[in-house]
Amino acid sequence: MDQRRYHNASYLCSVHELSQLPADTGAEVVFAGRSNAGKSSVINALTQQKKLARTSKQPGCTRQINFFQLGRNARLVDLPGYGYARAPDSLKAHWGRLIDGYLAQRRSLAGLVLIVDIRRSLAEPDTRMLAWCEARGLPVQVLLNKADKLSGGAARRVCLEVEKRLGPGGGAQLFSAAEKSGLEELVQALEAWLEPAGSTPDFQEAGLQGHLLRVAPGAGPDPSSK
Ligand code: GDP
Repeated sequence: MDQRRYHNASYLCSVHELSQLPADTGAEVVFAGRSNAGKSSVINALTQQKKLARTSKQPGCTRQINFFQLGRNARLVDLPGYGYARAPDSLKAHWGRLIDGYLAQRRSLAGLVLIVDIRRSLAEPDTRMLAWCEARGLPVQVLLNKADKLSGGAARRVCLEVEKRLGPGGGAQLFSAAEKSGLEELVQALEAWLEPAGSTPDFQEAGLQGHLLRVAPGAGPDPSSK
């Protein structure tokens, strides 16, 4: 699987308000997960760029939606990590509305990668996000990150348990951003979602809208709340 497309990813923009979202064309894949699950580390491992997404020992470091361009028609999207208890309520409410609004209205959204710390498995905000994706028919790849922290057998058991809890559009895999393991499987999932945009000059005009997510605004999973 050719991973070069990801190595050439470049920063596009950061969004604090829905009005700032980039053009809703082509296809994009969103990365979501609890703070400190390793979302920034996963994006950096995927793109082989040490600082594309900011990593921090301080949870909740990503406070806006960050967009990264992949060629002409595709994007990676880094959502604010959810479950950051120490943020003020007003800020959490703002992130919640931003994330909800983005997920609910984004037509180019082709799939969601859910980053989970394998030692914590699926927590309540994760299951809410999964239920929301299933209800909207949005495919999901659950990345059980930090697999290096468990023995091979224990890691595989968690993966099987998580797989059983996923709906038809869901997959789960082991991953370690620290060891850069699981990249091939991740890229395979991303390519399946992004491929239509990559091979079609104008995704929307080509009549492929049927593949895109269409949901009513304001119907998001509110992953900002604990
Ligand atoms: P984010 O808040 O989800 O973006 O998480 P970060 O990418 O900032 O990572 C949080 C902490 O987990 C950092 O100290 C990382 O070095 C660590 N980390 C991330 N991925 C891995 C991994 O695969 N293995 C191990 N052992 N640590 C990791």
